[in-house]
Amino acid sequence: MSLRVSIAGLFAVCLAMGAASSIFDMAPPIHGLALANLRDSFAEVHNGHPHEAIDILEPRGTPVHAVVSGTVRKLFLSEPGGNTIYQFDEMGVYCYYYAHLNAYVKGLRQGMRVERGDVIGYVGSTGNADRRAPHLHLAIFELGPERLWWKGKAVNPYPGLVAAVKRAK
Ligand SMILES: [Zn+2]
Repeated sequence: MSLRVSIAGLFAVCLAMGAASSIFDMAPPIHGLALANLRDSFAEVHNGHPHEAIDILEPRGTPVHAVVSGTVRKLFLSEPGGNTIYQFDEMGVYCYYYAHLNAYVKGLRQGMRVERGDVIGYVGSTGNADRRAPHLHLAIFELGPERLWWKGKAVNPYPGLVAAVKRAK
């Protein structure tokens, strides 16, 4: 009997861990984001590569909010991504990647803790984005056990973003 109880307890813990996945606890990255602003382009091919991200078109300079609480792991200027932020969630399970930023928020530093909803940067078209179409490129990577910011399995942010927008209403 006690064994059955402990197995049930363990199962409950596993369920709780699954429910705690930060993806379904996201806040919208853009204030006032509507479902009409979201399109699932995860499986599209952009510039010859699998897109594996969601693009949110917004005017240049629109504040970008951290979608989860966690740590700014890396600020990186890349040729395709421009000004980018790699943010780990609290548990270090997922890495949230924000690209083409016009700028980082003043004072943003690597290793800094940010709370869900904090402004971390501004929409832009740095990197290979079309200058005439500033947008936030948001990707999510499931980190491996080594937790390397540049290495992870892409996860589609679209369902989590839809849930975030619905909750924010
Ligand atoms: Zn993109």
